[in-house]
Amino acid sequence: MRDVFRTAGRWPVPPTTKPACRDAEPGLFHPDRPGGPLPPDKVTAAKAVCRRCPVLSDCLTLAVRFRETEGIWGGTTPKERRWLRVQADRMHTLGPLLQRLRTGEAPVHVDPLDRPAVVHRLIAGGWDVNRIAATLAVSPAAVRTAHRRGVLVASYAEALKRAGSPRAA
Ligand code: SF4
Repeated sequence: MRDVFRTAGRWPVPPTTKPACRDAEPGLFHPDRPGGPLPPDKVTAAKAVCRRCPVLSDCLTLAVRFRETEGIWGGTTPKERRWLRVQADRMHTLGPLLQRLRTGEAPVHVDPLDRPAVVHRLIAGGWDVNRIAATLAVSPAAVRTAHRRGVLVASYAEALKRAGSPRAA
Protein backbone atom coordinates (compact mmCIF):
# COMPACT_ATOMS: atom_id res chain seq x y z
CA MET A 1 0.00 0.00 0.00
CA ARG A 2 1.21 3.44 -0.79
CA ASP A 3 1.77 5.46 2.35
CA VAL A 4 -0.46 8.13 0.90
CA PHE A 5 -1.80 9.30 4.23
CA ARG A 6 1.49 9.18 6.09
CA THR A 7 0.60 12.65 7.31
CA ALA A 8 -2.67 11.41 8.78
CA GLY A 9 -1.62 12.75 12.16
CA ARG A 10 -1.81 16.22 10.68
CA TRP A 11 -4.80 15.57 8.46
CA PRO A 12 -8.34 14.53 9.44
CA VAL A 13 -8.57 11.39 7.33
CA PRO A 14 -11.52 9.25 8.43
CA PRO A 15 -10.44 5.80 9.66
CA THR A 16 -12.73 4.25 7.04
CA THR A 17 -10.85 5.95 4.21
CA LYS A 18 -9.89 3.45 1.56
CA PRO A 19 -7.71 5.05 -1.10
CA ALA A 20 -7.76 3.20 -4.40
CA CYS A 21 -3.98 2.78 -4.21
CA ARG A 22 -4.15 0.82 -0.97
CA ASP A 23 -3.34 -2.42 -2.81
CA ALA A 24 -1.15 -0.89 -5.49
CA GLU A 25 2.59 -1.14 -5.78
CA PRO A 26 3.88 2.02 -3.99
CA GLY A 27 6.57 2.56 -6.61
CA LEU A 28 3.90 3.06 -9.24
CA PHE A 29 3.29 6.61 -8.04
CA HIS A 30 6.90 7.76 -7.83
CA PRO A 31 9.85 8.22 -10.18
CA ASP A 32 12.35 5.39 -10.39
CA ARG A 33 14.89 7.56 -8.58
CA PRO A 34 14.40 10.68 -6.42
CA GLY A 35 14.22 13.75 -8.62
CA GLY A 36 13.98 11.64 -11.77
CA PRO A 37 11.25 11.73 -14.41
CA LEU A 38 8.05 9.77 -14.10
CA PRO A 39 7.99 7.15 -16.85
CA PRO A 40 4.90 7.62 -19.09
CA ASP A 41 3.69 4.06 -18.50
CA LYS A 42 3.74 4.67 -14.75
CA VAL A 43 1.82 7.91 -15.17
CA THR A 44 -0.87 6.18 -17.21
CA ALA A 45 -1.21 3.29 -14.79
CA ALA A 46 -1.17 5.48 -11.67
CA LYS A 47 -3.75 7.87 -13.08
CA ALA A 48 -6.01 4.93 -13.89
CA VAL A 49 -5.91 3.99 -10.21
CA CYS A 50 -6.54 7.57 -9.10
CA ARG A 51 -9.56 7.93 -11.38
CA ARG A 52 -11.48 5.42 -9.27
CA CYS A 53 -10.28 6.78 -5.94
CA PRO A 54 -12.91 8.01 -3.47
CA VAL A 55 -10.46 10.38 -1.79
CA LEU A 56 -8.95 11.99 -4.85
CA SER A 57 -9.73 15.54 -3.78
CA ASP A 58 -8.31 14.89 -0.26
CA CYS A 59 -5.18 13.51 -1.85
CA LEU A 60 -4.80 16.53 -4.12
CA THR A 61 -5.29 18.79 -1.13
CA LEU A 62 -2.49 16.96 0.69
CA ALA A 63 -0.21 17.44 -2.29
CA VAL A 64 -0.98 21.14 -2.26
CA ARG A 65 -0.65 21.47 1.47
CA PHE A 66 2.68 19.71 1.73
CA ARG A 67 4.01 21.01 -1.57
CA GLU A 68 4.62 17.62 -3.08
CA THR A 69 7.02 18.14 -5.96
CA GLU A 70 7.35 14.50 -6.92
CA GLY A 71 5.04 11.69 -7.85
CA ILE A 72 1.39 11.29 -8.72
CA TRP A 73 -1.00 12.76 -6.19
CA GLY A 74 -4.71 13.21 -6.67
CA GLY A 75 -4.35 12.01 -10.23
CA THR A 76 -1.86 14.74 -11.16
CA THR A 77 1.80 14.80 -12.12
CA PRO A 78 4.17 17.46 -10.73
CA LYS A 79 4.06 19.28 -14.09
CA GLU A 80 0.28 19.27 -14.05
CA ARG A 81 0.24 20.60 -10.48
CA ARG A 82 2.51 23.46 -11.53
CA TRP A 83 0.17 24.21 -14.46
CA LEU A 84 -2.85 24.02 -12.16
CA ARG A 85 -1.22 26.42 -9.71
CA VAL A 86 -0.68 28.98 -12.47
CA GLN A 87 -4.24 28.51 -13.66
CA ALA A 88 -5.67 28.74 -10.15
CA ASP A 89 -3.73 31.97 -9.56
CA ARG A 90 -5.03 33.44 -12.81
CA MET A 91 -8.60 32.62 -11.79
CA HIS A 92 -8.40 35.50 -9.32
CA THR A 93 -7.97 37.97 -12.16
CA LEU A 94 -10.91 36.87 -14.30
CA GLY A 95 -13.69 38.83 -12.62
CA PRO A 96 -13.85 41.78 -15.06
CA LEU A 97 -13.66 39.50 -18.11
CA LEU A 98 -16.44 37.25 -16.81
CA GLN A 99 -18.54 40.29 -16.04
CA ARG A 100 -18.15 41.55 -19.62
CA LEU A 101 -19.12 38.13 -20.96
CA ARG A 102 -22.18 37.90 -18.72
CA THR A 103 -23.41 41.32 -19.71
CA GLY A 104 -23.13 40.45 -23.38
CA GLU A 105 -20.15 42.61 -24.18
CA ALA A 106 -17.86 40.75 -26.54
CA PRO A 107 -14.43 40.27 -24.99
CA VAL A 108 -11.52 41.82 -26.79
CA HIS A 109 -9.52 38.70 -26.24
CA VAL A 110 -9.62 35.63 -24.05
CA ASP A 111 -6.12 34.33 -23.48
CA PRO A 112 -6.08 30.59 -24.25
CA LEU A 113 -4.42 30.13 -20.85
CA ASP A 114 -7.56 31.51 -19.23
CA ARG A 115 -9.98 29.53 -21.38
CA PRO A 116 -10.36 26.50 -19.04
CA ALA A 117 -11.32 28.61 -16.02
CA VAL A 118 -13.54 30.91 -18.10
CA VAL A 119 -15.38 28.00 -19.71
CA HIS A 120 -15.80 26.26 -16.37
CA ARG A 121 -17.29 29.37 -14.81
CA LEU A 122 -19.65 30.00 -17.75
CA ILE A 123 -20.90 26.40 -17.78
CA ALA A 124 -21.40 26.59 -14.02
CA GLY A 125 -23.44 29.70 -14.74
CA GLY A 126 -25.75 27.82 -17.12
CA TRP A 127 -24.18 28.60 -20.48
CA ASP A 128 -24.21 25.81 -23.05
CA VAL A 129 -21.24 24.72 -25.14
CA ASN A 130 -22.47 26.29 -28.40
CA ARG A 131 -23.12 29.66 -26.82
CA ILE A 132 -19.65 29.68 -25.29
CA ALA A 133 -18.08 28.57 -28.57
CA ALA A 134 -19.81 31.41 -30.44
CA THR A 135 -18.88 33.98 -27.82
CA LEU A 136 -15.23 32.97 -27.59
CA ALA A 137 -14.98 32.31 -31.35
CA VAL A 138 -13.67 28.78 -30.85
CA SER A 139 -15.00 25.35 -31.80
CA PRO A 140 -17.36 23.38 -29.53
CA ALA A 141 -14.63 20.75 -29.27
CA ALA A 142 -12.23 23.37 -27.93
CA VAL A 143 -14.86 24.37 -25.38
CA ARG A 144 -15.28 20.77 -24.23
CA THR A 145 -11.52 20.35 -23.88
CA ALA A 146 -11.28 23.59 -21.96
CA HIS A 147 -14.12 22.48 -19.71
CA ARG A 148 -12.37 19.25 -18.80
CA ARG A 149 -9.29 21.25 -17.85
CA GLY A 150 -11.40 23.85 -16.11
CA VAL A 151 -12.91 21.20 -13.84
CA LEU A 152 -9.37 20.25 -12.79
CA VAL A 153 -8.43 23.89 -12.23
CA ALA A 154 -11.50 24.42 -10.06
CA SER A 155 -10.68 21.27 -8.12
CA TYR A 156 -7.11 22.48 -7.58
CA ALA A 157 -8.31 25.95 -6.53
CA GLU A 158 -10.63 24.24 -4.05
CA ALA A 159 -7.67 22.19 -2.80
CA LEU A 160 -5.70 25.40 -2.28
CA LYS A 161 -8.57 26.82 -0.30
CA ARG A 162 -8.93 23.68 1.80
CA ALA A 163 -5.19 23.65 2.39
CA GLY A 164 -5.60 27.11 3.85
CA SER A 165 -2.94 28.66 1.67
CA PRO A 166 -4.25 30.42 -1.43
CA ARG A 167 -0.81 30.64 -2.97
CA ALA A 168 0.58 27.32 -1.64
CA ALA A 169 2.23 24.48 -3.56
S1 SF4 B 1 -5.88 9.92 -5.61
FE1 SF4 B 1 -4.43 8.38 -6.32
S2 SF4 B 1 -2.57 8.62 -5.10
FE2 SF4 B 1 -4.23 9.72 -4.09
S3 SF4 B 1 -5.05 8.28 -2.56
FE3 SF4 B 1 -6.26 8.08 -4.41
S4 SF4 B 1 -5.33 6.45 -5.61
FE4 SF4 B 1 -3.84 7.08 -4.05
